[in-house]
This record gives sequence, C-alpha cells and structure tokens, in this order.
Amino acid sequence: MDSRRGFFTSLVALATGAGKEEKPFHPHLPGFIVENSDNCLSCTTSACKNVCEEGIIVREESTVPYLDFSRRGCTFCGECITACESDCFVAEPITSLKAEIKIGILSCLAWNKTICRSCADVCNDKAIQFIGLWNPEIDSNACTACGFCIGVCPAFTITLHPLKEST
Ligand code: SF4
Ligand code: SF4
Ligand code: SF4
Repeated sequence: MDSRRGFFTSLVALATGAGKEEKPFHPHLPGFIVENSDNCLSCTTSACKNVCEEGIIVREESTVPYLDFSRRGCTFCGECITACESDCFVAEPITSLKAEIKIGILSCLAWNKTICRSCADVCNDKAIQFIGLWNPEIDSNACTACGFCIGVCPAFTITLHPLKEST
C-alpha cells in the first residue's frame, strides 16, 4: 500500500471514530453460517470450542460462539468445522475471515518513534509492512484477519472490524 495513502486512511479512520466503536466486534467462527444459528444455539456439546487448540472460541449462554483474539489467533485449521455436528458451517475450507485489521497510529509505538516490530514478527502472511523503521501498515490483500497480531501488540492498538460489503 502506498505510504501516504495508508497514513491518510488511518487519519480518516481516527477522525471518524473508527477503532472506537462502542460495541466490540466479535467475529464468527471461520465459515459459520449465520442463517443456521438456530442449529448452533440448540447445541449441547460445544464441540467447536472444545476442539480449538488455540483456545480462542468463546461460547456464552444464548449466543452463537465467537472468536476472541486477545491472546491468540486462528490458524484456519478447520477443526471446529469438522467437530460440529449441527450443520453450522460451509463445506469448503476457509482461509480468511470477513474482517479488517487496523493499526491505530496515534498509539502505535513504532509510529511514535519507539522501535517495535511485534506485529510484523508474528504475522505469517507478511501482511504488515514497515515503511522504513517507523511506519507499519496493513496490506489488506495479504491479511487473512487471523488475529495473531492483536494480542502481541504492547500498545493494544491493533483492532478488528467488520468488513464493509462492497455495493
Ligand atoms: S479454525 Fe482452528 S484455530 Fe480457528 S477457531 Fe477453528 S479450531 Fe480454532
Ligand atoms: S496482519 Fe492480518 S494476517 Fe497478519 S497477523 Fe495480523 S490479522 Fe493475521
Ligand atoms: S505491535 Fe503494536 S505498537 Fe508495535 S509496531 Fe505493531 S502496531 Fe505498533
């Protein structure tokens, strides 16, 4: 991504309040079919939650399960999909989430001239590119929204947002 465009986009996001939503965004499990939520709500086994080796699946009473990226991310291993016996997931393999990752540049250590590369180091998809030493930017084409960068950021400034559907 062009550096100036990324910087401008981040500033616009800050100015419009993006990244400061009142409700936190909890992504569905990869491949979850929202229309089949009733099947999921009647599930008594929580097989998806129990099988996830990353421990990122949260299931609360009266809600369908969601992902919590505060410590780990999704490897898209597909184990939760295989474990579900309630027809809650699409059949094809899922390799990304319908979500968008943003870096809050006002809080980011690197953008504020303190060396930090934690997010880029953990990203297997090389979706965080540094422009020089100080300016990490998300390559939205490469980012799978796996969430691994979120929990490692010492400034807690990486956030996940619903992907805006193109019209
Ligand atoms: S795909 Fe794998 S890592 Fe991701 S939520 Fe499902 S079981 Fe967990
Ligand atoms: S930048 Fe995207 S692909 Fe890389 S760790 Fe973060 S969420 Fe995953
Ligand atoms: S881990 Fe956080 S503070 Fe460090 S460079 Fe990435 S976004 Fe900035």
